[in-house]
Amino acid sequence: MARKNEVMELDAVVIGAGFSGLYMLHRLREAGLQTRVYEAADGVGGVWYWNRYPGARCDSESIYYNYTFSEELYNEWSWSSRYPEQPEILQYLNFVADKFDLRSGIQFKTRVTTARYDEDLNRWQIETDDGAVVSAKYFITGVGCLSAASIPKFKGLDSFKGEWFHTGHWPHEKVNFAGKRVGIIGTGSTAVQAIPVIAKEAGHLTVFQRTPQYSVPAGNHPYDSEYVRQAKENFSEIKQQMRESAGGIPTKPANPSALADTQEERERVYEEAWAKGGVGFFSETYSDLTINEDANHTAAEFVRSKISETVHNPEVAKKLMPTYYYGTKRPIIDTNYYETFNRENVSLVDVKTAPIVEITPKGIKTTEGEYDLDAIVFATGYDAMTGALFKMDIRGKDGVTLKEKWEEGEQTRTYLGIATAGFPNMFMITGPESPSVLSNMPVSIEQHVEWIADCIDYLRENGVETIDAKVESEEDWSKHCREVAEATLFTKTDSWYMGANVPGKPRRFLIYLGGVGPYREKCSEIAAKGYEGFTLEASSKTVK
Ligand code: NAP
Repeated sequence: MARKNEVMELDAVVIGAGFSGLYMLHRLREAGLQTRVYEAADGVGGVWYWNRYPGARCDSESIYYNYTFSEELYNEWSWSSRYPEQPEILQYLNFVADKFDLRSGIQFKTRVTTARYDEDLNRWQIETDDGAVVSAKYFITGVGCLSAASIPKFKGLDSFKGEWFHTGHWPHEKVNFAGKRVGIIGTGSTAVQAIPVIAKEAGHLTVFQRTPQYSVPAGNHPYDSEYVRQAKENFSEIKQQMRESAGGIPTKPANPSALADTQEERERVYEEAWAKGGVGFFSETYSDLTINEDANHTAAEFVRSKISETVHNPEVAKKLMPTYYYGTKRPIIDTNYYETFNRENVSLVDVKTAPIVEITPKGIKTTEGEYDLDAIVFATGYDAMTGALFKMDIRGKDGVTLKEKWEEGEQTRTYLGIATAGFPNMFMITGPESPSVLSNMPVSIEQHVEWIADCIDYLRENGVETIDAKVESEEDWSKHCREVAEATLFTKTDSWYMGANVPGKPRRFLIYLGGVGPYREKCSEIAAKGYEGFTLEASSKTVK
């Protein structure tokens, strides 16, 4: 480790020891690069390290929610259930870190504060919160898309006499809600997982809901060993299907249009998907749900009818009914979410019509009343896609910060979601304008890590000093991303996909919707053409 005022020279610095950083470290080490990962936590895991809230689990099926770069690893690990809980996923990532001996390359409990590109040296100068400075040729971010917690700036939070938590920074020790009056703000994917679990323990749970959500039963169940054995036997096929699929998970093809079927046939399709549980209700029923308003309406109506069947109190059921286009906020899967509102110790407060005005010493005050609470859970989400990057002072050419370039200037622009012009030799794993959060993350992460590792190999083999996205390439890519998104219903809903959950954040859809398979092909094509759309420079002259 470098002591204060001593600059350690590295080939590559990677930020984050989650799915992204762990594999990036492994690949760069294999390529012989001196690499160091910086991680703020005291362990590996990324979001799975931090998200320890009650009920936290994955909602990609577990046999697909893992690395596929090593068949040996795939064979050595066996998941217990269809949607495993956070401790098991964290255990998996620890297993990976041990198997590939990664811990020695990670500096834990260290936050990168600044990263500046030095144009004279063609190197990144990186500073950490322990005062150390390192210099690296390549600077790679694996900071996650949903890691910068968003806590609304409610007046009076400091005055609250009880305990409060954000789900993304949950304590390591068990939080005791037994017999307590608990309030939870939010009804996104996180809250939908947490509410049924907290409700079982709390004396009373009050749910503060701004936007009701569509949620489909997860249909979680323990795996039988034969199913897991078959997955391992079909490893190569599964891996290929994941890589070529639209969302990073092998899916059965959806019917082309909800409107082509009769009402009766549609009901059958939806009922079947509902009974099977999981994200198939979104991805395997009809392929026009996110592009055609009328088709979307049929799915939305179906879920609303299920809410009204499930929730006994008609007034509560009505409050729980969403009206936005189904699927244009993150599709949610749950275990007993709507059922939980039948419990006597659970109440629902609509904070859309009567917003929260302040947190008081005793609880939460809305425009209609005050709710006394012993604990408040903020399930209020994240400053997604860009928040974690903006927490660092990242400066490219001419000292321009990433924030200036993306927020105050012409707004977020990237080339493939991997690079951004003016920041040479910087790579983002699942950056804005890549499929990222609208895909099964480990698949997209692996694809980026492999692309970046191959790119660095190419640069070294060809005597290239720097690689930088061309301005026109990122303009074209951003335009393409916008066009694909605007042809869907996604941009018609206020969601974190659009940055709408963070006051003042520019509204832009920052995820590439063209599908994991086609996106991979596009990235590979660009690499095969000698990194088309990038400027490659040798120490003093342009290579291309
Ligand atoms: P989220 O989807 O952004 O939900 C935040 C919730 O807080 C929303 O209901 C939001 O209401 C509410 N909220 C925010 N500010 C508020 C305010 N000032 N007053 C009242 N309500 C407010 O965040 P999340 O649930 O943490 O999920 C984020 C993402 O993480 C998910 O979409 C998913 O991609 C990922 N995630 C994945 C898993 C998994 O794989 N199992 C689990 C959890 C989360 P509005 O809707 O009105 O803004």
